[in-house]
Amino acid sequence: MTARLIDGKTIAADIRQEVGEGVEELIAAGGPRPGLATVLVGENPASQTYVRMKRKVCGELGIESFGHELPADASQEEVEKLVKELNADPKVHGILVQLPLPAGLDEEAILRAIDIEKDVDGFHPVNIGRLAQKGREPLFVPCTPAGCITLLKKAGAELEGANAVVAGRSNIVGMPAALLLVKENATVTICHSRTRDLASVCREADILIAAIGRPEMIRGDWIKPGAYVIDVGINRVDDPEAKRGYRLVGDVAFDEAKEIAEAITPVPGGVGPMTIAGLMQNTLRSARRAMS
Ligand code: NDP
Repeated sequence: MTARLIDGKTIAADIRQEVGEGVEELIAAGGPRPGLATVLVGENPASQTYVRMKRKVCGELGIESFGHELPADASQEEVEKLVKELNADPKVHGILVQLPLPAGLDEEAILRAIDIEKDVDGFHPVNIGRLAQKGREPLFVPCTPAGCITLLKKAGAELEGANAVVAGRSNIVGMPAALLLVKENATVTICHSRTRDLASVCREADILIAAIGRPEMIRGDWIKPGAYVIDVGINRVDDPEAKRGYRLVGDVAFDEAKEIAEAITPVPGGVGPMTIAGLMQNTLRSARRAMS
């Protein structure tokens, strides 16, 4: 292996520790205990797991968590009513509506109903809009893309003026990651399922963020020598030798790419842990703002 490993697990653990200390300091200074409300609609097992993990980390860091669960057939009005109650609750500093929502619910309207001061996931259209505008700052930035930028900086990547390629343009990862890279003064190319010759575009990337959800699609010979590679993808592939019958791989063929890249994130243990750490940071920030 020639690439340096970007250890998201350790970096995220450091961030969580800082947040835990920040919570104690805030309370010692007479501030509120930070509170995060989670809203889970339906019984999607992956969503249930994510919410459980987020609430567990809240507990570890002294952040109060308020779990709200609604049935899969909850109406638009019911979900929005809950969000509005949480907006008005002074003990709640952050509101997280776990995505995806069940079919039939208007995701954008629900995200818009969240008070932007409590939009710790950073998905409110106003926060995303500010992210896209020059000279404007969102109150919160989506946690997974923000985690990608933190990892790049920790690894020592020079972002200003770099050719950055983001593979994927979803609202929650690809597009905000691209917008953040623009804010860092990188020159950004955004790729998606209609991109012609993704391999050639990737080969130009000093910085490559892969967020497509296709197991090991990005091959080693798509990587520019010396590139910084951030692999957001989390994909299950069958593996009869693994205890659970599957293993997790990223969107990048790690074993090939690690021979070419300057630095690369593993899957798991790269971007994944950064998402929850970022959510905790945002919740603490919101509680600090509520105090001031
Ligand atoms: P989406 O399915 O919402 O978006 C995938 C994107 O990849 C789309 O923009 C799509 O293009 C593009 N794409 C799909 N196939 C190809 C292809 N063959 N060539 C080029 N582009 C393609 O996924 P998400 O953004 O939600 O997630 C991406 C990955 O990141 C997943 O593996 C997910 O599990 C993981 N993830 C990890 C997180 C973490 O680490 N904490 C958090 C969130 C996601 P188009 O727009 O044209 O359809």
